[in-house]
Amino acid sequence: MIPPIASRFVAGETSAAALDHTRKVNKDGVKVILNLLGEHYHERAPADADAAAYLELIEDVGDSELDACVSVKPSQIGIDVGDEVFRENYLRIAEKGAEHDVFVWCDMEDADTTDVTLDVFEEAAREYDGGVGQCVQANLKRTGDDLERLADVPGKIRLVKGAYDEDPEISYKQKSKVNEKYEEYLEFLFEEYVGRVAVGSHDPKMISAAEELANEYDRDYEVQMLMGVRDDTQRELSAEGTEVWQYAPYGDKWFSYFYRRARERKENALFALRAIVGI
Ligand code: FAD
Repeated sequence: MIPPIASRFVAGETSAAALDHTRKVNKDGVKVILNLLGEHYHERAPADADAAAYLELIEDVGDSELDACVSVKPSQIGIDVGDEVFRENYLRIAEKGAEHDVFVWCDMEDADTTDVTLDVFEEAAREYDGGVGQCVQANLKRTGDDLERLADVPGKIRLVKGAYDEDPEISYKQKSKVNEKYEEYLEFLFEEYVGRVAVGSHDPKMISAAEELANEYDRDYEVQMLMGVRDDTQRELSAEGTEVWQYAPYGDKWFSYFYRRARERKENALFALRAIVGI
């Protein structure tokens, strides 16, 4: 059972609990990206098991009235076992998503996996007519070239700042530089990308920049934030007419995810401490 302290960031241990959470969040106009927690499997069995869990989840979402989609991690569905295992599982999930009209996102993990992840995204996006979306990271020096390459690939692109600690040779380390690149890539996406732009950030500056760019280029877009982070803002933006998606993780592997979130910012850590000591 997930303790109340962690349930701010995690939607439950089971898909049923995650779908209940989705129902509640949808009432505020916020849509939900469901992510089954799991990563870095080095054997085929758990990768195939999580892929199978996504197939079931997609059927459940497709059969419901919920505003929800899914997001998978490459290392959860086999990239550490072999590129072909990842590709097979991803394409099965994308096919199921297309059958049930449920959108499929893919997170981006460490830089060793970028090439294969983008190749498989492109293949699935063309095969399933834009029913898939890919996360790209502003902190990687290669991202400008990747966006040029992806500009005519249908689907959606989620721009994030990047959560992985990469080598300085291939990544920007200074926060100000990452922010500068984020704004530059956001403009590129609004100007050039054939699909839909998703702003994966809690940063008010990036969210305002997206709003301005959307007006300038007369484009639709969406904002994506994590469950438990700026929840009020998620509801407010949605009430003002912005399409907001909340990324909601669930599953029994919740502890390390919760630990990462709680350590990330002082206020989250204080929240965790207060819950433990009861103040
Ligand atoms: P930051 O640069 O961390 O902060 C900027 C400002 O945002 C802060 O000054 C504050 O005003 C506001 N803010 C940020 N956090 C909080 C908070 N907890 N409470 C209140 N205000 C806050 N990374 C990957 O590498 N791969 C992925 O696939 C991936 N997927 C993601 C999906 C989603 C939906 C989101 C939201 C993030 C994802 N990330 C992913 C993480 C991302 O790369 C960043 O590490 C993370 O979002 C922090 O950057 P930021 O843009 O939110 O803001």
